[in-house]
Amino acid sequence: MSGVARQALEKLCVIITIVLVYENALVFYQHLFPYWWSHGFYRQFFFNLIVGHWLVINTVMHYYFGITKSPGFVADLKIEKSTQDALGYTKCLKCGVMKPPRAHHCKVCQKCVVRYDHHCPWINNCVGYQNHVHFLLFCIYMAMIAAYATIVGQQEFQLVMFHDQILFRLLDPILRPYDITMAILEHETIGPITGVLTLFLFLANLVAMGLVLSLTIWQMSLITKGQTCVEEKIDKSIMINSVQQKQERPYDLGCKLNWTTFFETNRISALLIRLLIPFPFQPTHDGTKWISKYDK
Ligand SMILES: [Zn+2]
Ligand SMILES: [Zn+2]
Repeated sequence: MSGVARQALEKLCVIITIVLVYENALVFYQHLFPYWWSHGFYRQFFFNLIVGHWLVINTVMHYYFGITKSPGFVADLKIEKSTQDALGYTKCLKCGVMKPPRAHHCKVCQKCVVRYDHHCPWINNCVGYQNHVHFLLFCIYMAMIAAYATIVGQQEFQLVMFHDQILFRLLDPILRPYDITMAILEHETIGPITGVLTLFLFLANLVAMGLVLSLTIWQMSLITKGQTCVEEKIDKSIMINSVQQKQERPYDLGCKLNWTTFFETNRISALLIRLLIPFPFQPTHDGTKWISKYDK
């Protein structure tokens, strides 16, 4: 794919993500919040007001940081030649820059990135040491918000698309958290456009939830193993092409240490703040030095 076409496609991915979050917000603001408030369902109103906004704010902020923060380009670092030699820098065969261990070349950006993970079209940016925390938290919050919107918004979907079908009536007690179906029936006239939009939004949420959830689980399993996407790929190709039976994983320091290294904190309070409040991630080092299990 040409560079221009790829850029256009990546911009489209960003627009799709923004539209999906916006459409969901619209359903809540136009239909659900006014309904809960006007019918005196204050418990549902305040619960969803707090949970919904907490999920949206985290999703949007981590997405924003993931897009706008530099992943950590090697070319931007000014490292002395003697330090480069001591750290075991190697020359990138594609862009010619001297790069530290765990840095890899991104074919899309044409640059080497410190602790490179992969190039993500959904954020139109590389995922590297400096924005990896935001990328992971964006995935987690996006999966949660898609699940949340699917569960809460399914009442409207069910009503619009399948309100007279027995299967969905049987699933009512499981799927329906609040009894609003009848009340929506009283107050809303459902036209074909609403029907199509509701169907689109419900299916988009379901697909987003499935895709993002599998990506999140994969990312979390890699972090647990102290590996990046590109390191796993390289390890697998070495295993296929040699007699090596087990993955090397030199940066796997054990589950707990891998996670504290990833979030750069081992204090529970600091970790909770990082997980629950979308502050920008401030790297504590330049991403050139990584402890391996072979270090003494
Ligand atoms: Zn390079
Ligand atoms: Zn890139």
